[in-house]
Amino acid sequence: MNYKIALIRGDGIGPEIVHEAVGVLDKVGEKFGHTFTYVDVLLGGCATDAVGKSYPDGTAEVCKSCDAVLLGAVGGPKWGSDKPAEQRPETALLAIRKDLGLYANLRPAALRPALAEACPLKKETAEKGIDLMMVRELTGGVYFGKRDRYDTPDRGVECTDLMAYSEMEIERIGRRAFEMARLRRKKVSSVDKANVLETSRLWRSVMHRLAEEYPDVAYEDVLVDNCAMQLVRDPGQFDVVVTENMFGDILSDEASMITGSIGLLPSASMGDTAPALYEPIHGSAPDIAGQDKANPIATILSVAMMLRYSFQLSAEADAVEQAVDQALADGWRTADIAKPGEDIIGTRRMGQIIRDNI
Ligand code: NAD
Repeated sequence: MNYKIALIRGDGIGPEIVHEAVGVLDKVGEKFGHTFTYVDVLLGGCATDAVGKSYPDGTAEVCKSCDAVLLGAVGGPKWGSDKPAEQRPETALLAIRKDLGLYANLRPAALRPALAEACPLKKETAEKGIDLMMVRELTGGVYFGKRDRYDTPDRGVECTDLMAYSEMEIERIGRRAFEMARLRRKKVSSVDKANVLETSRLWRSVMHRLAEEYPDVAYEDVLVDNCAMQLVRDPGQFDVVVTENMFGDILSDEASMITGSIGLLPSASMGDTAPALYEPIHGSAPDIAGQDKANPIATILSVAMMLRYSFQLSAEADAVEQAVDQALADGWRTADIAKPGEDIIGTRRMGQIIRDNI
């Protein structure tokens, strides 16, 4: 098969890590008899520098002509909050997610066996293993609600951010979570704040309706504050965790931290139609850009997610994940995951070792 992939290399370490991930895809193609072709797409600070805006016209159309999108990272101090919105890389990220209809963000948080000691939790907690999938609603809620800022006569300036959710938005992300659970350990934990928020009460009622449609999947409601606590107390209890945008933003970072380094964690953003977008969860790491120091594993594991979820190539995805685990088990470490005194390798060498393991 031939698969066409849009590459958004982006800023900072983006080009370096995407280069290694593309090398891994090419190795998979060679081994398994697939062809991957690539279309470079300019987006982020590099696009601002080249054409004056971070989200050039036609970007979404080019991505839509592809089977999947791989994004390195965008952003950096050069294109900070003092710049007009159309020049800021974050604007481009929000725009591409919206234009591609990417309402579901999937972030696996798994403790890789060779790095169990990097888990900041108690040893006996880490030993139970962590392997959860955070499913976060990505295009609704308070981040996209109406905002207001106004003067009051006696309380100074006052602001509001509206949190709104419709049944349609909740149902489609809920279905994603239940379908995902069927491919995993068949458990959904739905996170809300139904003891306080009306949006959460609607969320909960829609999830309960869906739970009846998926009797083979175990279901539970978890209040967001309790979820934050359970993630550090006993993360092994979770399989698929589904939640709204802001809760998911916070909890997915918490889930990442308990598995060690952000340099290891991939993500996928999906809508109802292709292409989905795959990217590491970390940013553009301007402090180490261009120095062959970035860990390419999160981007390489993003490619494994692409193989599994966009192309239904499970054996190929397994091969990439096993190649990563092998590299770690053999003791290869980039600086971000090395213990003091351990030998350190760079971005390119790590990419090569993983390719050689496939
Ligand atoms: P960051 O994730 O870029 O970096 C945080 C720390 O982690 C830094 O010390 C960095 O060196 C390190 N780090 C990150 N990725 C690494 C990797 N692969 N290997 C080794 N070390 C790694 O977060 P930040 O510093 O808050 O943000 C930097 C820029 O990235 C900002 O402009 C921000 O807006 C942007 N950003 C972009 C995305 C995205 O493109 N999706 C996401 C988050 C942040």
